[in-house]
Amino acid sequence: MKDKPVILIVDDQPQDIELLEAHLVPQGYEIVKAASGEEALEKLSSNQIELILLDVLMPPGMDGFEVTRRIRRDTAHRLIPIILITALQETEDRVKGIEAGCDDFLSKPLDKMELFARVRSLLQVKAYNDLMNDYQIELEAMVTSRTEELRHALEDLQQEITERKLLEDLLKESEVRYRRLFETASDGVLLLEKREGNIFLANPATTKLLGYSEDEITGKVLKDVGFPDDFDTIQEILQKLEKDGIVNFEDTPLKKKNGQCVDTDIYMVDKAILIQCNIRDVTERKRAEDEKEKLQAQLHQAQKMESVGRLAGGVAHDFNNMLGVILGHTEFALEKAKENHDLHADLKEIQSAARRSADLTKQLLAFARKQIIAPKMLDLNDIVESILNMLRRLIGEDINLSWNPGKGVCPVKMDPSQVDQILANLCVNARDAIEGVGKLTIETGMKTFDQEYCADHAGFIPGDFVVLAVSDDGCGMDKMTLNHLFEPFFTTKDVGKGTGLGLATVYGIVKQNNGFINVYSEPDQGTTVRIYLPRCVAADEIPAVIHPHKPDPTGNETVLLVEDEPAILRMTRMMLERMGYSVIPAGTPAEAIDLAKTHADKIHLLMTDVVMPEMNGRDLAKHLTALYPDIKLLFMSGYTTNVIAHQGVLDKKVAFIQKPFSMKDLAEKVREVLDKASSIR
Ligand code: ADP
Ligand code: MG
Repeated sequence: MKDKPVILIVDDQPQDIELLEAHLVPQGYEIVKAASGEEALEKLSSNQIELILLDVLMPPGMDGFEVTRRIRRDTAHRLIPIILITALQETEDRVKGIEAGCDDFLSKPLDKMELFARVRSLLQVKAYNDLMNDYQIELEAMVTSRTEELRHALEDLQQEITERKLLEDLLKESEVRYRRLFETASDGVLLLEKREGNIFLANPATTKLLGYSEDEITGKVLKDVGFPDDFDTIQEILQKLEKDGIVNFEDTPLKKKNGQCVDTDIYMVDKAILIQCNIRDVTERKRAEDEKEKLQAQLHQAQKMESVGRLAGGVAHDFNNMLGVILGHTEFALEKAKENHDLHADLKEIQSAARRSADLTKQLLAFARKQIIAPKMLDLNDIVESILNMLRRLIGEDINLSWNPGKGVCPVKMDPSQVDQILANLCVNARDAIEGVGKLTIETGMKTFDQEYCADHAGFIPGDFVVLAVSDDGCGMDKMTLNHLFEPFFTTKDVGKGTGLGLATVYGIVKQNNGFINVYSEPDQGTTVRIYLPRCVAADEIPAVIHPHKPDPTGNETVLLVEDEPAILRMTRMMLERMGYSVIPAGTPAEAIDLAKTHADKIHLLMTDVVMPEMNGRDLAKHLTALYPDIKLLFMSGYTTNVIAHQGVLDKKVAFIQKPFSMKDLAEKVREVLDKASSIR
């Protein structure tokens, strides 16, 4: 609004306008003039008019009523107060003016004071109306914008509802599919809500896997239902999910409700407001892997033992031959150097050292499974009992030996001397493990293992077994020792005390007899060694234990002696001749055949080495049997890969002597063979 209110004066009589102007200007009003209605309407649109003083009769133009009507029709000016000025005093005119829309009247001639009063009051009304009008406009604008906002909101809502509906339909459809997958999946599927990681839904595979019911699981967090600590905070998982889209946990052990453990692979994926957690039971797979690993390890161990065995067997064979020579010549020398001779004591020492060495090589051969054995049907209890006294002497008085034989007979088929070897080795080990006073227990019994048991216990073989267990309360063993236990030359004992061959021997013997060994031991907790030998079913053989002792027998028969090792040939020849036999020595099978052909008299016995360069002992025997059908046969061997003894097991009908042999061994064996009925060779 301007400082001065502007009044538009409309009159066709200039002097009337001037008069009004003369009155109003001093009152502080600005005046705009118009000589006709038309001009008035024009001026109105170009000026900010506050009030109009309007003459009624303005011929020939529009009269004041018409001008009023037009102004009122125009919304921009409808609030401007209009005062009609007229000379007419008729009521009729006033009614007409009010109907046209004017606000007040002034009569000519004008009263100055009345003019001022009416103008002032109408300007006040106008100001008030303007204010109200502004307010109303503002209000209207406000209402309009709020309405607009609401309308938008409504539209959005509508759209959302439509979208939602669409989504719901889609969801419903995929939900049916998802549900079916969820219910029938073999993998566990859990849906977790994201805020706290609570379980929202669990499929049947999960409840089965974990052993909790659906009710027990729902609402819980993962660590409450057996998940490990990695799953404590869902936030960490969420962060990873955000970064990688998927989170994997491999080989995760879950604890079932009953306390059992299951190995699982777990992966999680982001599913909008939920996390989907898939759980796969990999116990079977892991078990198979472990099993494979175990078998691999066993195979490695077996291969190692096998190659070490071959090596040991080879060395032992040659070494054994030499020992035979040493022992034989020592025996001769001892005969010449009687007890009062200077050399007698030294020779005795040589003999005992050589015997000990022969025992060692015997153990190596046992380990290499190259020991020639004559298995018999035995009752293990009888054998153990027969050597208990010997074992007691071996372990000394400080160790209490208890013997708990299993009920009834424990039938095994093996060489009784091998049982002695096993027990002696195990008892010596027990003795060494016990410092001072202790306890040693020998037990026997029967045991049957089925496939299932063996699947869970590495190294066990299904079948019926006789068990021989030797336990001690000694120092026990650590893991490292347990791992190397059966290796030849593995020992934790001081030089000179242990050879590391004891358990290697036991291993070889047990393997040779198709059994297996189980050792249970922990440091300071003692040790139990269990030997499982196949239970023998055929009860047609009588157990034999006793080895008879007779004076050295002699004879005068002719012996064809074949041996490719000259030292042994010489020594054996000397032994036989001492016993009274005539000896035809031959260094090769060919020589032997020649000699046999040219020999005039009867040859009673062929005594031959088994392994020789050109022809083995068995083939030589065949040749000679053709020449001399009555000839008796005695094989001797250095125990290596053996033609006679297939896999080391002696053919029952074949006579055999193991190197090195003493004079006494040889005398007995030769006599035994010569005295046998000729049908048995
Ligand atoms: P050696 O007795 O000559 O050392 P073995 O082959 O008999 O050789 O035994 C190998 C190793 O196994 C021993 O040195 C010892 O460490 C361990 N061992 C065997 N038996 C027992 C046992 N009963 N208690 C504790 N340790 C044993
Ligand atoms: Mg030992």
